[in-house]
Amino acid sequence: MSKLKSEIPGIKKKTTLQEEARMRAVEHINNNYTNHIQIYTDGAKNHNGSAAAMWCRHHNYAESKKLRDATSIFQAELNGIEMAVQHTDDHSPGSKFVIITDSQAAIVALRNLQRGRVIPIPLIRTYESLEARWTSGMDIKLQWCPSHVQVDGNERADRASVLAARVQIIDQHSYMDYKDFYDQIRLKTWEAWKQEYWSMEEGPGGWMRRLKMDINERAWFSEARDLNVKTITRINRILIGHCNNRKFLHSMRVVSDPFCNLCGVAQVQDVLHFFLDCAFTADVLKEHMEEEMAKTYEHYNEEAVMEYLGEGLKDLKRLTRLLEVMEAMDIPI
Ligand SMILES: [Zn+2]
Ligand SMILES: [Zn+2]
Repeated sequence: MSKLKSEIPGIKKKTTLQEEARMRAVEHINNNYTNHIQIYTDGAKNHNGSAAAMWCRHHNYAESKKLRDATSIFQAELNGIEMAVQHTDDHSPGSKFVIITDSQAAIVALRNLQRGRVIPIPLIRTYESLEARWTSGMDIKLQWCPSHVQVDGNERADRASVLAARVQIIDQHSYMDYKDFYDQIRLKTWEAWKQEYWSMEEGPGGWMRRLKMDINERAWFSEARDLNVKTITRINRILIGHCNNRKFLHSMRVVSDPFCNLCGVAQVQDVLHFFLDCAFTADVLKEHMEEEMAKTYEHYNEEAVMEYLGEGLKDLKRLTRLLEVMEAMDIPI
């Protein structure tokens, strides 16, 4: 498939210096496509939306269209290529063409299509426009060229697509791939979930919500690379308020009552009991927290504990030290 070239000798996408990349690209295009009509294409995706464009050197003619907002950059690039393919019909029969795109991904995707296989939906239109012309004997090649290195044709196509995204109205005939909606769906679902989460007063996650922590899609421990799994699990149990204490064991019918066996008071042994009421542990934990926070608690209560745990999420070492103190007293976690 020598019609689809995703490389230029001597240019590595990330490492080659801009000026060198520009020179090599221009030289490569001049040397290899002297008798070809050059059509540059580009896709844009930014806060103004998505757009595609092409620029024909022979006609000094640019064409662009604004695409639907959710269109991916990949799809926008393909749209640009397809516009270029369509434009070849405006030239006299027998002309040779090179379509120059800065999307290696698009060229590689087109090249990886195998005869007899089902064409992936995002590629269907572009591939079919190309294939139809190849079959009729037209000479159309695709060549990758680096972006943002001041290759004039690439710059023109780039400007045209950026402008189209800003000033045009969305082309109602433009199509997009259903997968381009995945990001939006994920965001919307996440927002809806967050709203529901914070609107619930009680129920599952009630304890966790009181930590007033920012909920992120990534769990707090995704940043904690230096913690082992056991430590993460134990910290998580404290944060969630589900420890292996008597309250839990009782609910599992392992013990006959939920009361604390450390202080011997007939009070339910849950996580807060250890922090606030347990004669065996509360003073030690309060002292530890005061030391860490460098303050004395005027009102040492549930709020204070929650605040402490919530703050701990911003400073994980604090949570591991708390865990150590709790473990030293054999507090069941
Ligand atoms: Zn032209
Ligand atoms: Zn107790």
